[in-house]
Amino acid sequence: MVDLSAEALLEYDQIVNTTFSSENEGLEFYKSYALKKGFGIRRGYFEKDKANNQVCLRNFVCCQQGFREQQHMKKKIKKRKPRNLTRCGCRAKMVISFNKETVQWYVKDFIDEHNHTLGTSDTTCFLRSHRGITDAQKTDIFEMEIAGIRKHQMMDILEMQSGGYDKVGCTAKDIYNYCYKYKKETIVDGDAETVVSHLKARQERDPDFFFKYLTDEKGHLNGLFWSDAQSQLNYEAFGDVLVFDSTYRTNRYNLPFVPFVGLNQHRSTVIFGCGIISRETTQAYEWLLKTFLAVMSQKHPVSVITDGDLVMQSAIRSIFPSSNHRLCTWHIERNIIQNLHNSKIAEEFRKFLYDCCTIPEVERKWEDFMERNKVSDQNAWVHQMYGMRRLWCAAYHVGKRYLGLKSNQRSESLNSKLHTHLDSRMTLFDLLQHYEHCVSNMRRNEAMVDSVALHSTPFTELDAWSIEKHAVSVFTPTIFALVKEKIHSVSNYVTVEILDGFDLTIYVVAMKEKRDRKFRVDVEMNESSLDGIRCSCRKMECDGIPCGHIFYVLNILNAEIIPKCCVDSRWTMGAKSAFAPIRKSSMYDYSQSLERYRELRDLSQAACLKSSQTDASYMRMKHVLSEMIGASDEGNNDKESLCYGPVLPQAVQAESHSEDRILDPLQVKSRGAPKKKRMKGFLDKPKKRKRKCMSCKKTGHDRRTCKEQVN
Ligand SMILES: [Zn+2]
Ligand SMILES: [Zn+2]
Repeated sequence: MVDLSAEALLEYDQIVNTTFSSENEGLEFYKSYALKKGFGIRRGYFEKDKANNQVCLRNFVCCQQGFREQQHMKKKIKKRKPRNLTRCGCRAKMVISFNKETVQWYVKDFIDEHNHTLGTSDTTCFLRSHRGITDAQKTDIFEMEIAGIRKHQMMDILEMQSGGYDKVGCTAKDIYNYCYKYKKETIVDGDAETVVSHLKARQERDPDFFFKYLTDEKGHLNGLFWSDAQSQLNYEAFGDVLVFDSTYRTNRYNLPFVPFVGLNQHRSTVIFGCGIISRETTQAYEWLLKTFLAVMSQKHPVSVITDGDLVMQSAIRSIFPSSNHRLCTWHIERNIIQNLHNSKIAEEFRKFLYDCCTIPEVERKWEDFMERNKVSDQNAWVHQMYGMRRLWCAAYHVGKRYLGLKSNQRSESLNSKLHTHLDSRMTLFDLLQHYEHCVSNMRRNEAMVDSVALHSTPFTELDAWSIEKHAVSVFTPTIFALVKEKIHSVSNYVTVEILDGFDLTIYVVAMKEKRDRKFRVDVEMNESSLDGIRCSCRKMECDGIPCGHIFYVLNILNAEIIPKCCVDSRWTMGAKSAFAPIRKSSMYDYSQSLERYRELRDLSQAACLKSSQTDASYMRMKHVLSEMIGASDEGNNDKESLCYGPVLPQAVQAESHSEDRILDPLQVKSRGAPKKKRMKGFLDKPKKRKRKCMSCKKTGHDRRTCKEQVN
């Protein structure tokens, strides 16, 4: 129904007499009118001036104008559900035309009559014409994307910022679509090519940044390794124990993603480098390890902890022949659950994994274990495990340096951070960005812990033993906490025997409650000063921390400070003192304009908050800002240079990358592939598949109700 009130007539009059300096201004005008009234709009018919081929007439229509075309109204067998009908032949429109004489656009025709109900502003805001992501929102979205915030959470944040869902201007789906489109554009040159360009750009900014890649004869990416200067320094300081895990294949090519990690002076995870490897052959892993060694000045780790991958094992044997190698207990535990369904047997097996005894003892116990449990099948998992017992039996690793690590799955570790939010649809570029985000988080945490260690000391009581006070000044706070435990344990020990020699005194020490377990502490004296102290439990050698037995003897000797031989520099704040600090607070590089934007945003936020306090200052601020927005449009014609996120690799790619293109890796079939085939066979059979019990392998019941299951 047509509104004929005086107000409506006045509004109509105002509209038909409005002029615009551009077509776009007309569009924006009609758009804001439509939002206010409760309908959406669309660009319609236009005419061009034949003389200059410029648009001289434009029709803006209600979005419900016209009808869906007949050909789209037929029922089709399509996967996608047909869209809701939106058009109902509405005739509302605004036509604007260009007047050459006044050089202005004027309203030529205006129909304000709709044949449908109009919405309210909080429903109209969801119509397509009223949605869009502003440039400022795009920069926010980028920041959030890099910080690993999910899209629906981004939506919540933007909504909070603008003060309601009807004011934000976009929906979560718009954010999804925008990010997807951006990502697609980013890797338009190919995923592998983009990653390599990105790494090259990084190398240009950081000359010590190292990366190397390998391609096959056709040019497909086959292997990639990278490590920045900070990672290399970390390895120099903390490369005694190297941990890696190749079991994660979280990218669309199904390639193993192999981070090289270790422990820093605070026992936090540090990263030494990262690899992605395509062919799962010993040669491929050997290439990765050799590349790693080349960057790290051929420094071999003392010990390596890996998952159970056989290919990886043999590569480690050949590249790190003198390093201790241990399999991650977490992976073995997982295999125990899969292979040993009898909890009693599993418990017995675990003793080999954790209990320290002598090697002949292990051999004897193993024979007994196999006989008692009647394991005769040579292919059984336990037989395979026996074959590689050197890699996992605790007895074979007594006294070897692992810093107390048994597994590569540290709950608080980078691994868990790195492996969350990963999925099989990820591109290599996604993976690289995710890695950089994790590393950036890790470095922030490290800086925070460093700050605590540098600006405070852990609490010690006034009358604490001078050794404890010395320990505070020597070790990092995390390590001090461990050392303190050992210092406080001295009251648990007794001396069993003292063998006094000329310059070597041997103390035989035991726990008060367990006198049969004795430890031998050797004390070397040089003219009444302590020269060296060693314990047969070898905790110092394994973990770099002196044991309670040593502290017990130091107490007898009335020592005031911890002897030098008992302070491993890797656990002190001086661990990295040999290297200049190069830790950066951000992993990313931004364009100059974005840097300026950030600074201005901080300033304007503070200014806006202040201005919002009174009406007058609010109006003044609004005026200044509106003027700026109007003015900046004239100056900034260079829309293409607008960059919302970190500087992209393409920027430097042109001149630095003229060689052959690097093709994306070929997708590796997962190890589970043959299994899938078998599954298909099952499905092909007309007979219904009977489920087997996981425990006794009989059909008719499942593991939970199995009577033969011990547990
Ligand atoms: Zn309409
Ligand atoms: Zn000891």
